Amino acid sequence: MTNRLKERFQRFMIGRYGMDQLGQFMAYVVLALVLLNFIIRAPLPSRIMGVLEFAGIVLMYGRMFSKNINKRSKENQAFLRRMFYVTEYLKKLRFQFEEGRKYRIFKCPGCGQKVRVPRGHGKISIHCPKCGEDFIKKS
Ligand SMILES: [Zn+2]
Repeated sequence: MTNRLKERFQRFMIGRYGMDQLGQFMAYVVLALVLLNFIIRAPLPSRIMGVLEFAGIVLMYGRMFSKNINKRSKENQAFLRRMFYVTEYLKKLRFQFEEGRKYRIFKCPGCGQKVRVPRGHGKISIHCPKCGEDFIKKS
């Protein structure tokens, strides 16, 4: 019985696009919306999320069963390109955050130049690279 169902499904999927990274991403988004909907439980946002969930599911299956493989594949490529920029941007943010924890930035009282010093060394004398003024700060 299950084998016959599987066979029928496989026959149905012949010439159809199937799952890709964009499809997986949509599945995660729908799942996240469903979970969020459970948590929030306010009538209006819940209705909006319900519509989005439905639209996401329709779109996801529509793409999976689509016979326009070329077009779906291009959609996926465009999605992957965008995801690349997003992950690069997140990496940059994380890097800046970690730098921010390691260093402190002080403004030189003489010229206003920003000087970056490592944190956690107590009171230190900072030498401004621009105007040569020395000033003392707690790092
Ligand atoms: Zn200075």
